Amino acid sequence: MSDHYVQVKVQLEQMKSLVQDAEKEGVDTEEQVPVSSPPASVSPDPPSITIAGTDAANTSTSCKNRGKSRGKPAKEDKNSCGKHISVTLHSPVVMKNLNRLGHERTLHIKGTGKILQGKSEPNGNYVTIHQSKNIQDARREDGFKLARKKKPVTVDTSKAKTSLEALKLSIKQLKWKEFPLGRRAACDIYWHGVSFHDNENIVSGQVNKFPGMIEMLRKINLSRAVRTMQDLFPEEYDFYPRSWILPEEYQQFVTQIRLVKENDATVNPTFIVKPDGGSQGDGIYLIRDPSDLKLMAGSQAKQAVVQEYIQKPLLIDKLKFDIRLYVLIKCLEPLEIYIAKEGLTRFCTEPYQEPSQKNLSHVFMHLTNYSLNVHSGNFVHSDSQSTGSKRTLSSVLYRLAAKGVDIKKVWSDIIALVIKTVIAVVPELKVYYQADIPPGKPGPTCFQILGFDILLMKNLKPVLLEVNSNPSMRIEHEQEVAPGVFEYVPSPVDEEVKVGVIRDTLRLMDPGHKKPTISLPKTGCEQREEIPMEAESQDRNPDEGGGSLPSLCLKQVYPKYTKQFNYLRLVERIAALFIRFLGVKGNMRLGPTAFRTFIRTCKLSNSNFTMASVDILYIDITRRWSGVMPDSREAGMGLQAFVEAFFYLAARRFKSLSLKEQVAALLELCEAALASQLGVAEDRRSVSCSRAQQRGARTQPLGPTNPQLTSPAPLRRAASQDYRLHQRLKPRTLRANVEN
Ligand code: ADP
Repeated sequence: MSDHYVQVKVQLEQMKSLVQDAEKEGVDTEEQVPVSSPPASVSPDPPSITIAGTDAANTSTSCKNRGKSRGKPAKEDKNSCGKHISVTLHSPVVMKNLNRLGHERTLHIKGTGKILQGKSEPNGNYVTIHQSKNIQDARREDGFKLARKKKPVTVDTSKAKTSLEALKLSIKQLKWKEFPLGRRAACDIYWHGVSFHDNENIVSGQVNKFPGMIEMLRKINLSRAVRTMQDLFPEEYDFYPRSWILPEEYQQFVTQIRLVKENDATVNPTFIVKPDGGSQGDGIYLIRDPSDLKLMAGSQAKQAVVQEYIQKPLLIDKLKFDIRLYVLIKCLEPLEIYIAKEGLTRFCTEPYQEPSQKNLSHVFMHLTNYSLNVHSGNFVHSDSQSTGSKRTLSSVLYRLAAKGVDIKKVWSDIIALVIKTVIAVVPELKVYYQADIPPGKPGPTCFQILGFDILLMKNLKPVLLEVNSNPSMRIEHEQEVAPGVFEYVPSPVDEEVKVGVIRDTLRLMDPGHKKPTISLPKTGCEQREEIPMEAESQDRNPDEGGGSLPSLCLKQVYPKYTKQFNYLRLVERIAALFIRFLGVKGNMRLGPTAFRTFIRTCKLSNSNFTMASVDILYIDITRRWSGVMPDSREAGMGLQAFVEAFFYLAARRFKSLSLKEQVAALLELCEAALASQLGVAEDRRSVSCSRAQQRGARTQPLGPTNPQLTSPAPLRRAASQDYRLHQRLKPRTLRANVEN
C-alpha cells in the first residue's frame, strides 16, 4: 500500500471516528445541501445535458461537500458545550460555491426540514458548521427512530483497493455501515477491487464481481464472443471493428489484407495491434502492413488482437476522444443491465491527423488513454466538466447538441451497442457462474460495474473499443505539483461521475429494497423473485425514506428493451443446453460421454449421422480448440467449441436456411426434445409417486410420502430412476442466494 493510501486511510478513519462520536451525540456530521439532480430522461434520452448548466454545479457541489479525505484531515472543533463540529473542505470548487453565499449562511437540508448554520472562516480554509441545540435534539430523536426502523446495510470494503475512496463516500452518503477491515459475521455486500475471488469462502450476500468476468473481457475472448455474434447477426454487430486473433489467425489476416489491396490499390488501411490482457494502452502499436507485426515464434508468440483502425473519428477541438461509459450488470438471470447517464470522455493531447507512415507512432495523437496522455505536456487538468483533457460525457453531448447533432440517436445507438455486447458475453459468464457457485451450494450472488470504451466515428456511429472488467474508480489523479514531484490530487470530474455510479449501484443492490414478491420459477439470482421494475420507475429514488439523495444516475436498459433485443440471445440458449449436460458440479467442459448424451437426448443422430460421426466431430473440434487455448487446464469441450459444434449440426440439418435460422431451428428441436423428455419423466414420476402414495396410504396412513421410502422394491427402483432422470434433465439454474 502506498504512503498516500496509508495517509488517506488514517484520515478516513479519523473522519469515521468523528462521525461516530458525533452520531453518539445525535449530531449528523454530513453536510447536506439541496441536490437538484438532472431530470430523469425517458429513453432513449441522452444523459440530461442540462447538467452542463446549473444542475451540474449543484450536484457537483453536493458530492464534493461530502468530506474530502485528501489534504488536511477533518477537524472536530468542540466548544465548551461540545455541541458543534467542523468539516474541512478542500475542493476549490466547493469553496467558491460556499463563499459565493457569504460568510454566515444556513443550509436547508432537503427532505428533512432541518437547518444547519454555517460560517466560513476568514482564512477561507474551512467552513464551520454549527447546530443549534433544539435542532440537535430533534435530530437525535429522528436518529433513534431511524435506528429502530432499519439496520444499516453492511459493506465489507477490505478488498476495495483503488475504489476505496469513492466507495467510502458512497457508503457515507447512504448512511450504511462500512467494515474496512472485513468482518467475522457476514456482510450484505462485499466490494472487491479486482476479482470475484478477492475474498474466498463468501457464502452469502452480494459480491461486486462475477466469476470469469476478467477472463471473458480479455481482448481475445471479447473478440471471439463478438465474432460469434457477428457470424449470426452481421448487421447488428457491425459496431465492433474487424479483428483477427494472433498468432492463430495470422495467415488469414495476411491473406485478407493482400486481397483488399489487390482489389483496390488506393485502399491503404491501418491496423491497431493490442496485446491480450493489456490495458492502459500498454504495448499497443499501429501498423500499415502485416509485415510490421512484431510476432514472435513458438511459445514466445504473443497473444494479441489486430484490429481495423478507425481512421475518421469524431473530433472536438481537433482532438480525438473516446467515451468511458459505466454499465452495471445487476443480474445475469434474469438479465438486468443499467447504464450510467453520466460518463467520462478522455481526450488526446496532440491534434489528430489521419494515420500516415510518419505519425503512426504518435501515441498522444492516436491513443486516448488517460494513463498515457497524462504524461504529455499538453494534458489539461481542469475542475470544469466541459474543458480539459477529461470531461463529462454530458458536457460533450451538450456541445454536439449545440452544433445540431441528433444526440438522442447517438445515445440510443450507444444503448444498443451496450446491450448487444452484454448479450455476447453472457453465455460464457453463465458457464463460469455455475462452475464457481454451483446450484444448491451456498454462495453469494453477483453484480458488476463494467467500463465500456466507445469511440464515435465522424459520422457519429459508436464503435466498441473494449470493455474493462475493472474500470478505474479512482477519484483523484496524478499531477505534477512541482517540477518532477507528482502527487494524487482530487479530481472533481472523476468524483462527480464515479461516486454517483458506485452510490447508485449500492442503492440498486440494497438487500432491504425489495419489491413485493411473486413466485417465479427459480432462476438463480437474488432478484429473481421480484417483480421486474417498471420502466418508468427506474429513474426514481429507490430509498423509501429518501428525499436527500439525488435520483438514480443509472438507467435500466434491460429488461426494459427486451422486445428489441431478445431475438439476439441464441447463444445463451446454446449455453443453457451446454450447462444442462455438463454434469459434474464445478465443471466447465463437456466430456465425450456427455456430448453423446446431448446428441442422443436431443435425437440428433440418425443413419446419416451415426454416433461414430458424433465422436469424430467431438474429437476434431475439441482438439482444435485445445490448440487455440493451450493454457486451458481442463480437458474436454468448452462452450466456444460446443457452439461451433452446434453451428455445424445446425448447418447439416437445415441446409437451405441462413446461419441464424439454422441455429434457431436446431435450438427449437433440442428444446422440444428436452421438454418432452422432461414431461415423460414428470409423468412417470407422478404416476409412480401416486401409486406409491396410494399403497402407502393403505398401509401407512401417517407414514412418509417419499415414494422411495414407501413403495415396494420394483416401484422404488422405477421412482428412483425417474427421479435421477428428472434431476438430470431439469434445467440447471444459476444458484439461488440462500441468505437474502
Ligand atoms: P487498452 O486496454 O490498452 O486501453 P484499448 O483497446 O482501449 O486498449 O485501446 C487503447 C486506445 O487505442 C483507445 O483508447 C483508443 O484511443 C485507441 N483505439 C483502440 N482501438 C482502436 C480502433 N480500432 N480504432 C481507433 N482507435 C483505437
